[in-house]
Amino acid sequence: STALVWFRNDLRLTDNPALKAAMDQGDRVVALYIHETDPSLRPIGGAARWWLHHSLNALAEDLAGLGIELLIAEGKAGDEVRKAAKSHEAASLHWNRRYAPAEREVDGAIKTALGKDGLEVHSHAANVLVEPFDISTKDDRPYAVYSPFWKVLRGMDIPRPSPRPRRRTDPIKAGRVDKGYEAPKWSRKLGQHWEIGETAARAKLRTFLEDLVKDYPEGRDRPAEDATSRLSPHLRFGEIGPREVWHTAQAFAEEHGYLRSQIDKFLSELGWREFNYNQLYHREDIAKVSMQPKYENMKWRSPGSALARWQSGMTGLPMVDAGMRELWETGYMHNRVRMLTASLLSKNLLIDWRLGEEWFWDCLLDADGANNPGNWQWVAGSGLDASPYFRIFNPVTQGERFDPAGTYVRRWLPELAKLDDKHVHAPWKAPKEALKAAGISIGETYPAPIVDLKVSRERALDAAKGL
Ligand code: FAD
Repeated sequence: STALVWFRNDLRLTDNPALKAAMDQGDRVVALYIHETDPSLRPIGGAARWWLHHSLNALAEDLAGLGIELLIAEGKAGDEVRKAAKSHEAASLHWNRRYAPAEREVDGAIKTALGKDGLEVHSHAANVLVEPFDISTKDDRPYAVYSPFWKVLRGMDIPRPSPRPRRRTDPIKAGRVDKGYEAPKWSRKLGQHWEIGETAARAKLRTFLEDLVKDYPEGRDRPAEDATSRLSPHLRFGEIGPREVWHTAQAFAEEHGYLRSQIDKFLSELGWREFNYNQLYHREDIAKVSMQPKYENMKWRSPGSALARWQSGMTGLPMVDAGMRELWETGYMHNRVRMLTASLLSKNLLIDWRLGEEWFWDCLLDADGANNPGNWQWVAGSGLDASPYFRIFNPVTQGERFDPAGTYVRRWLPELAKLDDKHVHAPWKAPKEALKAAGISIGETYPAPIVDLKVSRERALDAAKGL
């Protein structure tokens, strides 16, 4: 019989229980990916679409090595799964679970409908460390605060990843599976910064553990350094699963005891990913609705031209502008700078966090349905376990602290390259001679700050206090 495996956010062979079960069950296995057009599902953003294209081609190659063909469809998920099941005379269908309420609704409807048609439908756990419905507080409620959640999670038995399945039939030749896709012109530059696919993801984890993790707790806050794993887009598309990351890192810590605390710090960040998936599962659409209901009464300012200045990295605040330009050029932004840019938009500029979230959604290669809105709500203060309303990042002091030599800022803002370290995070405060020597004219070669940081801070505090 034929077993159909429907790939979604799990574009890998190793630690893929849906694929494994299909291979155990069927004499023949057919793989399917659907570009879903169901109106209830959030369409993928531009940068992530580019990643997906390459990831699907990598997956098709890997599957072809196992003798499995990857079909690509576009349309409503239910229609496309049914069509594929029919034309390949499938007896069973397997997938790994996804967690957004709208996704669960789509999947539930398919399970019911196809079940009625006589198809065996099986869903599996693969994309989080612990299923969101398997972790709850003592009084059986979802966690609203990260630290108790993490304390419980880190003590749980995380399932071991299943090994890469072995080939049971002759390999086939993979076709180009994503033929209809035309990479936009702007995406060419992204290719310089990334290698895509399961093999690249695993190699990246290795390099991170061997070379970088020792400095991770401090290095992770310095945006000029390459000190973090850069696994986020790979995790977003499931080219590597969190359970493999977890167990590989734990084994590394056991082997190299002196790295225990560094590895624990790294795993606690993976814990934030879990926490966000937990929120995604339990709360109303977190990309649309503030988790703290009172934030729905916030008097956001009209975005005017400020939104476009923020998007294009022209706010006149160097750390913010460097971050927004890094995002545009590479499809990635360093975590500390994501916090600064999001804080400037949602607090100093008082622009609705959803508008910032949408821009990130379109530009980030790792744009993730749980992590992007979850972190935006954390920064904006509207999340359940959020940065408090009075914590407003100051991009100047943050720059002085985490980019003391201005290396990061100069990398992305060549117009400030010649300005001395002392003024590079607040060029408008530099003496006239220093500006002249650096070839800078504020308001012409580089913008004046979009807001007064002090005044806008007070305005944000008042707005939040009034809720
Ligand atoms: P590492 O430091 O090496 O961390 C390892 C992994 O842990 C990451 O790949 C990621 O899966 C997870 N992780 C790390 N930090 C966080 C965090 N704060 N929240 C949740 N998971 C985390 N991350 C995304 O994956 N997708 C997003 O769309 C996204 N949007 C964000 C938006 C804002 C406003 C902010 C402040 C953060 C956002 N993050 C997002 C979280 C974080 O910035 C990235 O996960 C991280 O920078 C990715 O780099 P890395 O893989 O080198 O991280």
